[in-house]
Amino acid sequence: MVTIAIIGRPNVGKSTLFNRLVGKKLALVDDRPGVTRDRRNGDARLLDIEFEIIDTAGLEEAAADSLEGRMRQQTETAIDEADLSLFMVDAKSGLTPQDSFFCEVLRRKNKPVVLVSNKAEAKNSSAGFYDAYTLGLGEPVPISAEHGEGMGDLRDAIVAALGEAAFADPVEAEEDVFARDPDVTILAPGEGDDEEEEPIELYDATKPLRIAIVGRPNAGKSTLINRFLGEERLLTGPEAGITRDSISVEWEWRGRRIKMFDTAGMRRKAKVQEKLERLSVADALRAIRFAEVVVVVFDSTIPFERQDLTLADLIMREGRAPVIAFNKWDLIEDRQEVLADLREKTERLLPQARGIRAVPVSGETGDGLDRLMQAITETHETWNKRISTAKLNQWLAKVTGHHPPPAVAGRRVNIKYMTQVKSRPPTFVLSVSRPEALGASYTRYLTNGLREAFKLGGVPIRLNLRKTD
Ligand code: GDP
Repeated sequence: MVTIAIIGRPNVGKSTLFNRLVGKKLALVDDRPGVTRDRRNGDARLLDIEFEIIDTAGLEEAAADSLEGRMRQQTETAIDEADLSLFMVDAKSGLTPQDSFFCEVLRRKNKPVVLVSNKAEAKNSSAGFYDAYTLGLGEPVPISAEHGEGMGDLRDAIVAALGEAAFADPVEAEEDVFARDPDVTILAPGEGDDEEEEPIELYDATKPLRIAIVGRPNAGKSTLINRFLGEERLLTGPEAGITRDSISVEWEWRGRRIKMFDTAGMRRKAKVQEKLERLSVADALRAIRFAEVVVVVFDSTIPFERQDLTLADLIMREGRAPVIAFNKWDLIEDRQEVLADLREKTERLLPQARGIRAVPVSGETGDGLDRLMQAITETHETWNKRISTAKLNQWLAKVTGHHPPPAVAGRRVNIKYMTQVKSRPPTFVLSVSRPEALGASYTRYLTNGLREAFKLGGVPIRLNLRKTD
């Protein structure tokens, strides 16, 4: 695993980034006696990369008289220990002489540096952002450590700087990184009260369905998009209905209006093979946020790479509806056997996407595109689904009767009521006497039951637990 140091003057936001990257694992921060308190180490995770991180923030408390000397010493030690330094500056306040001091130290070390311009969400931050170019450390990555913005770009910059080393000793895909359930939230008192119930209605089929296609480089995204758009007999007309702006293409597929996100001109790329191209999580995130349904293209000859799982997981976390395309199906010989194997792996490796639609296709021959489009529209309908409160509570009475909620400290947790507060993705509020005592296995029992009873397979489900007396 690589080691990354966060370097910068006091108050630029180093600790905020450190805490964000280390997350819940903060308990692992090295607190052994004898270890200098000027630096904190932690196990960090940024989307699909993992690394050890060193935060030099502690040195801010160093005695003022020796501050400069200690800063230099601690910073140098951290840079020496790290494979890469994130040099953080503050876009809101602009550069100061102290920034130049750290910049000099870094420059002299001649080790990889990613320049990070923090607080980019702040008004008037753009002057400070452009200021950072003058440091001569390359293009700054704008982020907001506080709001979690720019994390995809930061991930991409780290991977560009470190190359394959960024993925050294990855956690095995089978481990539980992907198996946790991110979709249950315990609401704080008053939280979500202003969320109004939307009227129950079917989605508007006259609006274009927004699709994005993501996947590893060479999975066949461009080929698939070109094939979709090139099937002219299926279009309303060769030009009619096709409008194009910088990021999306609109056309019709069997009478359904479709708007597709075109990642960085993927459509034009067509036959140009760029073998060394890396997955850009920042591009994927932009595409995912644009879309309602996101197709993850897997290369069926090399399926379930870690990055495939990362993408599927990102889509679920962003609350979008995923569909898997097993591409290059024309290269597969024992099709039935392979398909059964791929479906089994999908259920096992992506348990949070239980029931996800997965369709074999060939961008090369065009086989399977109709079925893929059908899976997309079905998934979209599921994602838009509304379930009446009456039906939900009938179901709830049945499942809680069949398998009552746990008793903790001699008292049974009391479940009162369930209602769907939102669709896109389906979001439910459950009124519970003691939300924190309900437990992960019981909430999983409920979300799995919901999926089954109301045919919500393959889309993310959010369950919010609200305390009632
Ligand atoms: P992208 O990087 O995901 O956009 O991938 P491309 O669309 O550029 O495709 C990468 C390579 O895979 C190219 O050489 C394509 O010709 C090939 N390819 C894409 N789709 C298929 C397919 O369905 N079958 C086969 N046999 N090759 C494909």
